Amino acid sequence: TGTLMAGKRGLVMGVANDRSIAWAIARAVAAQGGELAFTYQGEALEKRVRPLAASIGSDLVMPCDVTDDASVEATFAALAQRWGKIDFLVHAIGFANKDYLRGRYLDTPRDAFLQAMDISCFSFVSVSRHAAAMMNPGGSLLTLTYLGAERVMPHYNVMGVAKAALEASVRYMATDLGVDDIRVNAISAGPIKTLAASGIGDFRYILRWNQYNAPLRRNVGLEEVGKSGLYFLSDLSSGVTGEVHHVDCGYHVVGMKNPDAPDI
Ligand code: NAD
Repeated sequence: TGTLMAGKRGLVMGVANDRSIAWAIARAVAAQGGELAFTYQGEALEKRVRPLAASIGSDLVMPCDVTDDASVEATFAALAQRWGKIDFLVHAIGFANKDYLRGRYLDTPRDAFLQAMDISCFSFVSVSRHAAAMMNPGGSLLTLTYLGAERVMPHYNVMGVAKAALEASVRYMATDLGVDDIRVNAISAGPIKTLAASGIGDFRYILRWNQYNAPLRRNVGLEEVGKSGLYFLSDLSSGVTGEVHHVDCGYHVVGMKNPDAPDI
């Protein structure tokens, strides 16, 4: 525990359960004295998110479906009423129809393409616009991305294209909001077994491949992504914006298979 986030308040979007990256970041922030609000998508998840929030002393838990503008507006109206201002936002939301997280990218139909773009990219734009309007100077917006935005990963397909758009959004938004002393960054996390990841074909193979070939020879842990999230949300990263920061045990620098890796 510490005081890096003392006096700071923020909203965490994307907790589904205790394996969610959003929850790992929330825990790291709470341990440093930050005050948190949460959103969940759909009633089924409320039962999971409320007790998690309560465990770190938060009772500000709201429904929010990012595909619905009225729902997003209601969330930020409730937040403004309760707190007035905020200091940070975590956007850990992504979705693509899993029927298209396999096979050829080329075969992605328009509706699946637009849905992946809407939920995984545009939602960061829309929630950030609301968040920035109520943000104190020194504020920080953070999203989550994956290496499949930069390079072709098997099965990632339309999600890779949506993440590429998300990463470009980070740069444009950093430029829009820099004049207000608000920073915008992304963490590009290595593969972690979460609910969202279970939709990706052959995910266990991807985990093993990263473990054997990443410079650190292991997969990144949730707590490590949490700590890096804390860096971006805190004053430690006050000079950093528009950045896509890899938290992947170094996998992104690798050009070829590790010759000593076992067969998988
Ligand atoms: P997760 O399943 O725990 O979180 C995904 C969240 O997105 C869920 O809470 C879900 O409710 C939310 N969501 C989906 N559609 C929504 C909608 N319409 N409105 C509101 N919320 C919606 O999985 P996670 O792995 O923690 O995912 C968080 C983020 O991290 C995602 O952007 C994901 O792409 C990214 N990421 C994950 C990995 C990984 O390997 N797990 C790696 C890199 C990046």
